[in-house]
Amino acid sequence: MPSPAQPLRGSGSAGPSQEPPRGEATAGSLGAPVPRGSGSAGPSQEPPRGEATAGSLGVNLLDFDLEGLAAFCAGLGEKRFRAVQLYRWMHQKGEHDFGRMTDLAQSLRRKLAGVAEVRGLPVLSEHRSADGTIKWLFDVGNGNAVETVFIPETDRGTLCVSSQAGCAVGCRFCSTGHQGFSRNLATGEIVAQLWFAEHLLRRERRLAPGERAIDNVVMMGMGEPLQNYAALVPALRTMLDDHGYGLSRRRVTVSTSGVVPMIDRLRGDCPVALAVSLHAPDDALRDGLVPINRKYPIAELLDACQRYLEAAPRDFITFEYCMLDGVNDSDAQADALLQLVRGRVPCKFNLIPFNPFPASGLRRSSAARVAAFAARLQDGGIVTTVRRTRGDDIDAACGQLAGEVQDRTNAAQRLAQRRVAIPVRPAPSGSGAAA
Ligand code: SF4
Repeated sequence: MPSPAQPLRGSGSAGPSQEPPRGEATAGSLGAPVPRGSGSAGPSQEPPRGEATAGSLGVNLLDFDLEGLAAFCAGLGEKRFRAVQLYRWMHQKGEHDFGRMTDLAQSLRRKLAGVAEVRGLPVLSEHRSADGTIKWLFDVGNGNAVETVFIPETDRGTLCVSSQAGCAVGCRFCSTGHQGFSRNLATGEIVAQLWFAEHLLRRERRLAPGERAIDNVVMMGMGEPLQNYAALVPALRTMLDDHGYGLSRRRVTVSTSGVVPMIDRLRGDCPVALAVSLHAPDDALRDGLVPINRKYPIAELLDACQRYLEAAPRDFITFEYCMLDGVNDSDAQADALLQLVRGRVPCKFNLIPFNPFPASGLRRSSAARVAAFAARLQDGGIVTTVRRTRGDDIDAACGQLAGEVQDRTNAAQRLAQRRVAIPVRPAPSGSGAAA
């Protein structure tokens, strides 16, 4: 979930640079420089940053899950175990140069060099927060850029990954929703975010072979992942595959605004942890905040959540709830949420302090209101957490991601026309509500 419009590209350049310098933060970056590769033997020290994007002819091998890569290699007359070797080089060692994949047969290396490549995404900027959070802006072409955020914690590292350039859902409290929609990311563009971040962090931290920097992925960056289902599922499989990143299903989370038929498909195809953006206890309010509710209302959504739990790796659904002052944060609304879910969907609530941006017309609930709301849910028997703000100083907190989107579908305009008024209770004097 992203983004008040706050472009990161420092110079207001006319378009994406096709070849960002390797090993240096690009113009406008406030972050620490990315270390240069040493050029030593073994895996190259730096994943390529997609310099082949323009005019590239090769198949991007990051687009494949292992089965897809095996089929591609079979087309080259190669056995499956060669695909496994290649897949491990790419994802476990971060290698992009076929010439360095030393245990691959020379003949296969030559074949690959003619038809394929391992193509990452150009990094437009990198920002590092005082709390260790890192935000990258990746160029995905045609004036679009998406953001990826690494959030370090004491016992793990989480990567927040984008699935689309923009988003067509148009949630009221989300800046990406106000920017419109350009296109779906390819599988390779989703995977490239993890591939780049994991191998960069491993090098920086000098991790031993087998140690990983990222053990948690949340599909909560720009976009509605379940509206890019065909690209999402192979990307998830690569995250989970023991020959890929080997992440636990419990530690890969798809966050959705509630695309009911795709929740059902994900349950069958690749069940991972599920987070649902709920944000309201009734359809009248949710229709205004999360417009997809008009198509898939709350009752249908909760039924899909129940079905999902039959196959889910966790025995609960996480409901995300953005706290909006005077809109969805009253005691009565907390009680209505309890009525809605108790005894129906085993769940946890994650309350998200809203990060305001001018076009939203919405305000952040006060810290006291958030605490009271959380306590009411908790007292009602629902485990409730309040999301800790991370990366605030680099606009990397939830709802602050700011990619760049060319709204080629005019989604922003259409959504603005269909937008309905949201009743806002006046703030009581002295409530401390943040604007
Ligand atoms: S689904 Fe809603 S919250 Fe998520 S990116 Fe799209 S508009 Fe934002």
